[in-house]
Amino acid sequence: MIVDNLKKVIEEIKNGNNLGEEIVLVGATKMVDADTINLATKNGLKIVAENKVQEFREKTDLIKDADQHFIGHLQTNKVKYLVGKVSLIQSVDSIHLAEEIDKCASKKGVVQDFLIEVNVGGELSKSGFNPENALDSKRELKKLKNVRCVGFMGMLPKSDNEEYLVNLCKVMRDIFEQAKKEDSDIKYLSMGMSGDYKLTIKNGSNMIRLGSTIFGKRNYEVK
Ligand SMILES: *Cc1c(COP(=O)(O)O)cnc(C)c1O
Repeated sequence: MIVDNLKKVIEEIKNGNNLGEEIVLVGATKMVDADTINLATKNGLKIVAENKVQEFREKTDLIKDADQHFIGHLQTNKVKYLVGKVSLIQSVDSIHLAEEIDKCASKKGVVQDFLIEVNVGGELSKSGFNPENALDSKRELKKLKNVRCVGFMGMLPKSDNEEYLVNLCKVMRDIFEQAKKEDSDIKYLSMGMSGDYKLTIKNGSNMIRLGSTIFGKRNYEVK
């Protein structure tokens, strides 16, 4: 089933987004065991991502043939478990967090790539930069030498109002375009999960994070 799901998604996104850009597929692997993840990576999934540091630490050494990203809320005291081990931290939601990652990366002698998380829907339940501050914050973070911002990450609110969601995609894409104009490191706009990726890839996203579309519905009760 997972292999079929994956083939279907890969086929679906192979022609790129509405702007003709390649779409990067990231498997969101929370609550998925390492064997299942490896089945997916053996069948074309090139990047996997966890949203909890604890779960990342449990699985990271077991995962074969894939880049690993981090996509969840990150506390500064846990930065050390990720720096140098994930190729991309997608969820940098404050200047302070970026500074801590920078310090840790400097100690380890690496440059850590990250995305600026933008709270595009202005939701209280979500973290991230305010859309109005995202570009200035990106500029400010440029002075840190051991981190490199390569784009932006956003999570759309749950809504049936397509026009509203399309508009939020546009807000994100505008931030991305402006940043890209002045900074050649900027490459990724990570937006889209199972419930909304069909919409986001029609509206400028070039990286999607899919969990249940690939791995099936998560059963929160079993764990
Ligand atoms: C779980 C998760 C996803 C994927 O969710 P699905 O709805 O299962 O596709 C994407 N992004 C983040 C940050 C997640 O935690």
